[in-house]
Amino acid sequence: MHRIACHECDLVHDIPPMPARATARCVRCNAVLFRAQANSIDRTLAWTFAGLVLYVVAVSFPFLAMKNGPIFNETGLLTGIQLLFEQGIIPLATLVFLTCVLIPLIQMLGLLYIFVPLKLNVRVQYAMPVFRLFKHVKPWSMMEIYMLGILVSIVKLGKMATIIPGLAVIAFGLLIFVLNFALASVDSHMVWERLEGGS
Ligand SMILES: [Zn+2]
Repeated sequence: MHRIACHECDLVHDIPPMPARATARCVRCNAVLFRAQANSIDRTLAWTFAGLVLYVVAVSFPFLAMKNGPIFNETGLLTGIQLLFEQGIIPLATLVFLTCVLIPLIQMLGLLYIFVPLKLNVRVQYAMPVFRLFKHVKPWSMMEIYMLGILVSIVKLGKMATIIPGLAVIAFGLLIFVLNFALASVDSHMVWERLEGGS
């Protein structure tokens, strides 16, 4: 049994293990409590590994190149953040670092820490606190917003110089989708059940 509160009306339900693709609804207001997902572990792991590959490309390849007459500049995501710091735009630099570099990495490592042991049927220490932390970090991922901000500044810069988007921009755009798919594949009910069940 797993205890879950309705997010609409706060009614608490005790829910037994459910078959894949089944939906649990609140008995009072009929809001969806959650959907049990098919192959949640495999799908989460596949999307997370794909995300890690895209992440490595996004942080290590040039983000954009600027061509202004004879001057040719290539900037990566990390050097871009470093430039913001050096120019004293510290709040923006911190936000971009957190939302585009640190939080996605924490999310993917957290997913691996939870789902690789689940897949292998082994137990690891601190799996429950890690998953609880993971559930808190989730709403703080705002990569999309900052990506949009970066694109807007690229367009503005485009008036001063020729801007050539690098491989990292494409990888980053894909990473946003892939990470969302990975997070959507997480079946929290199943995870709690497995983590609690074995102890
Ligand atoms: Zn309800």
